[in-house]
Amino acid sequence: MQLIDSHCHIDVSEFDDDRATILQRCRQAGITGLVVPGVDRERWPGLIALCRAEVGLHPALGLHPIYIEQHGTGAVTWLEQQLATTPEVIAIGEIGLDFFMTELDRSHQQALFEAQLTIARDANLPVILHIRKAHDQVLSTLRRIPVKGGIAHAFNGSVEQAHRFIELGFKLGFGGTLTYPGANKIHRLARELPLAAIVLESDAPDMVGAAHRGQRNSPEYLPEHLAALAALRDEAITDVARQTTRNTRQVLGLTPSEL
Ligand SMILES: [Zn+2]
Repeated sequence: MQLIDSHCHIDVSEFDDDRATILQRCRQAGITGLVVPGVDRERWPGLIALCRAEVGLHPALGLHPIYIEQHGTGAVTWLEQQLATTPEVIAIGEIGLDFFMTELDRSHQQALFEAQLTIARDANLPVILHIRKAHDQVLSTLRRIPVKGGIAHAFNGSVEQAHRFIELGFKLGFGGTLTYPGANKIHRLARELPLAAIVLESDAPDMVGAAHRGQRNSPEYLPEHLAALAALRDEAITDVARQTTRNTRQVLGLTPSEL
């Protein structure tokens, strides 16, 4: 069984003390690939260096909407320049719109999102989306600036909105939230969406599952999310593992030999 964590911030300082040990345990657990999304340009160099040093880590680069005030006016140009010198980047992300945090300027977020979608479209790269309380806005933006697809990470929109994303070439990411008994909306999505549209993610160090509540999240817990997904769907764990791994590879253009 091979698993890919389609969204893991393994580059952040929370993992500085035990990153190598965690990656070792991941490999022993069959987690042979991790996608590491970038959130701001200060952290891109460290992220790229880490992905070059460790087998199975795949970098994505992007300017996250919640850091909108820190990005600065030249950040989009930096992104283009960084891409030109980093051919191993597999996606633009994480990017998107966060209307949950009302202090973040919406028109500024929209402009940054559109600029990065344009870069992804021109580079023919998929995107990794962060979306909170802005699913319809993201969908209409994607219709104006179509990209080749990608992942709507930590998806928490409606079933209807999920199908609109699927039509635009997207997979929906699910992780630790699957393991909480009261997460009815996520459970319904996990049961009703086609398995071909679902990818697994940890979002570590955030979004920890129920078994580790109050602790740092880790990509090594991915099999717990897999088990929760399989139980919700009443499908075999091995089948769900195989299909979700295939989905991640397909949407991000990863071949098995790259893991
Ligand atoms: Zn993230």
